[in-house]
Amino acid sequence: MPKFGKSSRNNLKSCDHRLQLVFNEVIKHVDCSVLEGYRGEERQNRFYDEGKSKVRFPDGRHNKLPSRAVDVTPYPVDWDDRERQTLFAGFVLGVARGMGLVLRWGGDWDQDFKVMDNKFDDFPHFELKLKE
Ligand SMILES: [Zn+2]
Repeated sequence: MPKFGKSSRNNLKSCDHRLQLVFNEVIKHVDCSVLEGYRGEERQNRFYDEGKSKVRFPDGRHNKLPSRAVDVTPYPVDWDDRERQTLFAGFVLGVARGMGLVLRWGGDWDQDFKVMDNKFDDFPHFELKLKE
């Protein structure tokens, strides 16, 4: 059974407990890395400047503690493998739904279950809905 490494565990600790529950289940089945949970001001604004994020601090879902968003990717990381990222996301969304949670994924922002119409791909990104 795969297990999170130390930095994945630490990153996940900065996230909302519901995100922790989801990914502590996911890791039992698919090896993956938690790249980031909470993201501070300097880093958030740098991501904005570099075009990796659409919002400045503190408007991102990563900018509150505990974080309402988490970036996770299958391990080993292969950013060119869009299909693997998508397969992983479907697995994560299914695990979350089984726990009564609807997560929004950065490969399908409008949540229409179509991936080709996604304008801004952020494949490792999963977040809680606004009202939750
Ligand atoms: Zn993210």
